[in-house]
Parts: sequence; structure tokens; C-alpha cells
Amino acid sequence: MATNYTPMLEQYREVKSKHSNEILFFRLGDFYEMFFEDAEVASRELEITLTSREGGNNLRVPMCGVPYHAADNYISRLINKGYKVAICEQVEDPKQAKGIVRREVIKIVTPGTILTEASLPDKANNYLVLLYEEDDELCLAATDISTGECIWAVFAGNSRTNNVCDQIYRLLPAELVILGKLEGIAVITSFLAHRVPVCAVTNLSDADTNLAAELPYKHFAEEELPGTPAAQAAVGYLLYYLHYTLKSPLTHINKLTKINTQDYLVLDASTLRNLEVTRNMHDGGRKGTLLSIVDFTKTAMGGRLLKKWLEFPLLNPIAITKRQDAIAELLDKRVVRETLKELLDNIYDFERILTRVELGSANARDLAALKTSLAVLPDIKVQLQECQSQLLADIGMTTKTHVDVANMIEAAIIDNPSFSIREGGIIRTGYNLELDELRSIARDSKQWIQELETRERESTGIKSLKIGYNKVFGYYIEITHANTGAVPPNYVRKQTLVNAERYITPELKDFETKVLGAQEKIINIEYQLFTVIREYIKERIGQIQHTARKIAQLDVLLSLSEAAERYNYVRPILNQNRELIIKDGRHPVVERLLHGEMFVPNDTELNHRDSEILIITGPNMAGKSTYMRQVALLTIMAQTGSFIPVREASICPVDRIFTRVGASDDLATGQSTFMVEMNEAAQIIKYASANSLIILDEIGRGTSTFDGMSIARAVVEYIKDKVKAKTLFATHYHELTDMAENSKVIKNYSVAVKERGNDVVFLRRIVPGGADKSYGIHVAQLAGLPKRIIERAQQILTELEQNKAATPAAITSTNDCGVGQTTTSAISLFGSSVINELLSVDIMTLTPIEALNTLYRLQNQA
Ligand code: ADP
Repeated sequence: MATNYTPMLEQYREVKSKHSNEILFFRLGDFYEMFFEDAEVASRELEITLTSREGGNNLRVPMCGVPYHAADNYISRLINKGYKVAICEQVEDPKQAKGIVRREVIKIVTPGTILTEASLPDKANNYLVLLYEEDDELCLAATDISTGECIWAVFAGNSRTNNVCDQIYRLLPAELVILGKLEGIAVITSFLAHRVPVCAVTNLSDADTNLAAELPYKHFAEEELPGTPAAQAAVGYLLYYLHYTLKSPLTHINKLTKINTQDYLVLDASTLRNLEVTRNMHDGGRKGTLLSIVDFTKTAMGGRLLKKWLEFPLLNPIAITKRQDAIAELLDKRVVRETLKELLDNIYDFERILTRVELGSANARDLAALKTSLAVLPDIKVQLQECQSQLLADIGMTTKTHVDVANMIEAAIIDNPSFSIREGGIIRTGYNLELDELRSIARDSKQWIQELETRERESTGIKSLKIGYNKVFGYYIEITHANTGAVPPNYVRKQTLVNAERYITPELKDFETKVLGAQEKIINIEYQLFTVIREYIKERIGQIQHTARKIAQLDVLLSLSEAAERYNYVRPILNQNRELIIKDGRHPVVERLLHGEMFVPNDTELNHRDSEILIITGPNMAGKSTYMRQVALLTIMAQTGSFIPVREASICPVDRIFTRVGASDDLATGQSTFMVEMNEAAQIIKYASANSLIILDEIGRGTSTFDGMSIARAVVEYIKDKVKAKTLFATHYHELTDMAENSKVIKNYSVAVKERGNDVVFLRRIVPGGADKSYGIHVAQLAGLPKRIIERAQQILTELEQNKAATPAAITSTNDCGVGQTTTSAISLFGSSVINELLSVDIMTLTPIEALNTLYRLQNQA
């Protein structure tokens, strides 16, 4: 038998049938209720009581609910747990409704569309990314609706999936929307799982294609729209999804920007990660990152922009110079800088306030914060008038002060307005005449009541007569039973209590209507006035957004100048000779995190004449990777426009930085260490140019010594002959240092070590020449391996070294690629009898079958 649900539940089921993927918050009076399965899920996830309700035919239906005023918090919690929430409101006045109140879903909240302040990271964006593929073009469209930013990019060719992953790593989306078929979906999904686990994936299956095609024209100027149909479709679908979920005109999304990879230094996801530019390897947080060191931004808007500057360093020397000029000027003009910093302290995240204005969720506190922020703009402009550098002068000139908006809010909104806009307490006295009058009625009511009380006491002679108020009966006159005999005839009895009677009089009733009406009217008028102001601001969102972006720039420039001053950074010279010269360079992060110890500065010289590839040898823990990362980080900082931790430097902007660092950090992705290493090496070889910078740390370690050394040598040779990129290559294969002897552009360096008796001191100094010892046993000792093992290792090493001396034929390099080389560890594997037999074979007279037999025999001996 089909269940006959109650009309309300029928309505619920109707709405729910269109929102099977979301938890439906169904508004009933002061609560959002959930039913059936949603109720079970929500009660479990939110730890709220699961009850039930009569659903028709005597059937109980599971139910749970949250009060509407606390809903944001519950919604955020569900979103954080990966759910989506559809909010269904009553869309007509229950008093006017015939039958059941009409209800509609007014918005859908998802991880990428949530706007609750508490759910948004301050100094990072909250991106929603959409991917769409058509005609071999993989298109990405992304937005942060909390700021109104909207961007797009197209990727083609075989590496398009990797390129998209690189962008996704930077954007760190909260939600990825996928539409249609994507060839590389498996790669993307696995990348997300390992690198952006916070990202929720949504499949958009039934988008309205016509609407999606129209939307880009509604939001953006035609010249901003993407050139290819596929990219334009991606932007359209992104907008469609926003409209579908937020159900609002979203006029604050009004500028579309292309991510122009040609304009920026390309940093792929593994490089950004390896170098810990904005997220650390440990937990993806900010601690220990370059960003954390140079971030002195005062505003959330500046914080978000600084992150972008570091993730998208520039290529164009003119653009870089402009930033350097601004930083130099701020360093020079100390007073200007300090004043500007103080002024920025008053600026709130008004980029996001504007979004709340657009979506109608801004409250009076938001407007007060906007006013406070706008109020300092004239002073900021005055300070910037003193600046000559182009960027600062431009910020000063193009920043508008929005005096009209600031004045309007100042005149209308009180200093500490209440949180809710529907309970009054937001509009200033003197702003609206009617409001002032109503308020004086409400205010005077207390006195009036007192006067009435006195008057009635006198006229009735009842001393204990009291006038009171409660929500159910309104105002009343209360008289104890003992005195009821003296009650005058115009008193109407309303309620009897244990020891008193309550009455009303026509006069009191009149008063009540007036006072209560006044209170209600006050709230209404305050709300109306507030929305008028909000609408006024809404019409000016574009201009104020522009100001927000200028302020963000100023904040970032101030932040970088602050870092420069605090940490003695120096302005690098930019050259066009493809040279990188660093004198006394320091690793920006390590130098800050060394406790007590002094950071040892080091020089670097890379050029195409005689120093293109540096092979760096030295013991473990000596400082090789710190040194190489330092060179990469200094380049990134320089191309960001920042000053850098060096005594002096001249840097030619590079087009890409590649890194192959560390051996074991990728195990999480399920690939073997060696496979990851080789993949990364393959990427580097394929995409590096003569203008790139390559950092290779210990390549070839994940396989046998022979394999590893051969691969390492072949890779370096290939880079030298074909790629010609500036390369830093750290290796523990000392054998590779012989490459420098045959090549003009390869140079050997090592980390200096001082031996003091049995002790070894790392000097952290990079010096010309290769290292001749590994000191591995020394490091093992430092790491705390038992003395017995250390002594035994020392003994084996000595034996091996003696063996090496005894069989020189087996260890010398026989050809350029290192194949045929053996090492002490190889000797220990095979034993010298194998070597002896090998040496005794006369290859010239050997038949193939004899050769195979010999090999078989040798292998069995191993
Ligand atoms: P390697 O790559 O040679 O194994 P690392 O670069 O990881 O060695 O350096 C090991 C540690 O030595 C670092 O964590 C750092 O604390 C310290 N270190 C490295 N370079 C320097 C330096 N130039 N000055 C001071 N300490 C350094």
C-alpha cells in the first residue's frame, strides 16, 4: 500500500526528489528540519537528537532539526565533512498562505560556494574549479566567489593533464566540478587524492547548455571572453553552476582573467611542493614555507595576493623592476612606510564584505567594517603622493576613496551595530525623522507607565497596585485579592493568579498598541534603511573591488619591504646574459629556522660559457640540498620582485624551474620511488629549455648502483648536449666528478669538511672540486647507530678499500657513460673469484654458447 504522507511531507518529498545529492534543510517556522535518510545522516554527523514525526497513516518518519539562527554553523560542519546542503525556505507569508506554505530551495551550499566567514581561510582563496574537455583542449575555469575573482586557462597537447594538475596544486580548490568526459580523469583523481585531499569532486551532469552559453556575456566584457569555444563553454558552465547553486545574479563576478602561463615562471606542482614555496611537505600548511617568512601583510587581501605572487613569479624584467622600484622606495621612505603600515591595520577584508553585499548577507557590522576600511583611504593616498616609483604612484592615483559610501555608512550606521539586521539597533539617531519619533515613544514609555501607575494608585487608593508586562497578555494592572473590592468599574479582568488579579483598561490598551507598534515599526524601518544603503553599495561594487585589489598590492609591496629590512635582503640586478651570480647567498627559510647556529652563506655562478652544470658532491647532511634549494628559492624571490638574502646578486629570469629532490617523499602516491624519480626526470628532459633552471638531487638512487650511476651520467650528458639548461646536480656517486674533466661547462663543487681526529665537522661551505670521501659511517654514528655496528662498518670499509686497490682493472671507468664501471659494493657482491674468472676469459675465441655458459656459472657463484 502506498503511503499517504501528510501534505507537508508530500511537499518535502517533492522538493527532495530534485535534490537527491544534497542534505535538504527544510524550513518549518524557526527551524530547519531534516527527514528520512537526511535526518539520520545529519543527526549522526552533527550529533543532534534524532526524533520522529507523524508522517501520515500512523507512520513515524525520522526527523531532526536545527534552529534557523544557528544554521550557518551546522551547515559549515556538514560541508567540512564533504556534504552539500540545499536550503529550502518558506517563500510566502504563512499568514497569507492558503493551505500549505509555498517552499523553494533558495540556495545550495557546497565546499566551493560556501560564504560563511568562519569556513573561509583568511589569507587564502577558496576556489571552485571546473574542468571541461572538448576537441583535445582541456579547459579550466575557476572562481573564488568570496572575492569575485574569475580565471580560466586552456591546456592542449600530451602534457595537458599534468599541466592542469600543476594549476590545481596552486589553486588548492575546495571543490572541483567535472563536466562530461575527461581523458585524464584517473590521473587527476589520483593527483587530488594525494595532493589536494580537501577537494570535493562534483559531477555536473544535467547543466542547461543554452543558459551556460549565455552567461559569460552577462558577466564579462566581450573582449575578455576566451578565444576558443571550448574555453568559453568551460567559463559558461562554471557560471551556470554558480547560478544553479547560489541562485543570485552575482554581479560581483565581473572580470575574467586568463592565466597566461607564458607570462610567468612556470613552477610545476612537484617543484612548488619540493621547494615548499607556499605549502610545506609535511602537512600542506604554511609553517616552514617561503611564504611564511616573507608574509608581513596586514590585510587578508594582501595575504592572498602575496601567495599568488610567489606561485606566479614574473618573467618580464620590466615588470619585475617595477616591483623592485616600489620596494626600494618603501625601504628609503621609512616614515611613509611606517605610516602606511599603521593605516593598513584599519583595513578589513572588504573584498569579501562586497561579496556579502552582493548576495544580501552583509550585516551592519560588515558595513561598519567597510566604512572603517574606506575611511583610511584618503590618508593612504596622501602618503602615496610622496612616492615616485611607478607602481606606488599608480596605486595612489587610481585608488578611489569612495567618500560617498563611507559618508553614507558613517551617517546611518551606529558604531557598534547589532549582529542581526532584523532586530533593530543599527541606525544612528538623527538619520531618519520617523525613526527618531518612534524611538522616543518607545523610550518614553517607561516614564509614562510609571506616571500611570502613580495616578492609578492615587485614584484607587490601592498602594500595592502595580503595572507589569508579559508577552502573552501585554501590559496589565495587578491588584492583590485583598484589594479587589476597590477596583474601579473601567478595569477589565484578564487573568486570575493565586494571590492577585490582573486587569487592563482602555487607556493601557491604547498605549500598548502604540508602544508595541512602535517597536515593530522601528525594526522595520531600520531594516528598510539598511537595505537601501546596501543596495547603494551594491551598485558600486566594481569600483570598490578595484580599490581592494590596489590595497592588496600595496600591502604585498609593504610586506616584501618589511622582510627586506628585517632580514637584510638586497636588491638583485637583473641581467639578460642568461647568468646567475650570487655572492653570499642564504637559504631564506633555513637561515630563519636555525636555532643559535649561524647560517653559512655561499656563492653560486651559473653561465653558459664555462659553468652551466654544477656537480655537487659531499657527505650526507653536509648541506647539498639546502644549497640547491637556496639557488632555486632566490631565483623565485627575485622574479617575484622581492629583494633576496645575498650580499649581491645578478640574476637572469628563467622560464621554468624543475626539481627532482628527495627520494622517498612520494611513496604515498603508490608509485615506487624509482618510478617517481624517473617520471620526474623524464618531465624535466622533455620540457626544460636553455633558459630553465634544473635542480637534481640524488637522481638514480632508487635502483642498483650500476643502473643508478649510468642513468645519472646519461641524464647529465643529455642536459649538457641537448637541453643546455642551468643545472645543479647533487650526487653521492663520486665517480661522476670525472665528467668535469671532459667538459668545459661542467664544474665540480663539494661541501667542505674538516676532519679532526676521528671527528668530522661540516663547514657548510661550497668549494670548487669534487669530494673524495662519503663520511657515511660518520653520519650513521651521528644518527645514533650502535658503536658495534659503526666499528664493524669501519672494518668492512677498510677491507673494501684494500680490495679496490688490489684489483685496479675492475674499478676504472671504461667508457663515457660509466657502464662497465664497478664499485666497491659490486666487488663485495661478486667476490674476487668472479672477477678473476672474467679476466681469464678470452673473448675473441669464445662462442655464443660458451659465453652463455660462462655467464650462467658466474651468476651461480654470486
Ligand atoms: P644534504 O643535502 O647534504 O644531505 P642538507 O642540505 O639537508 O644536507 O643539510 C642538512 C642540514 O644542515 C640542514 O637541515 C641545515 O640545518 C644545515 N645546513 C645546511 N646548509 C647550511 C648552511 N649553509 N649553514 C648552516 N646550516 C646549514
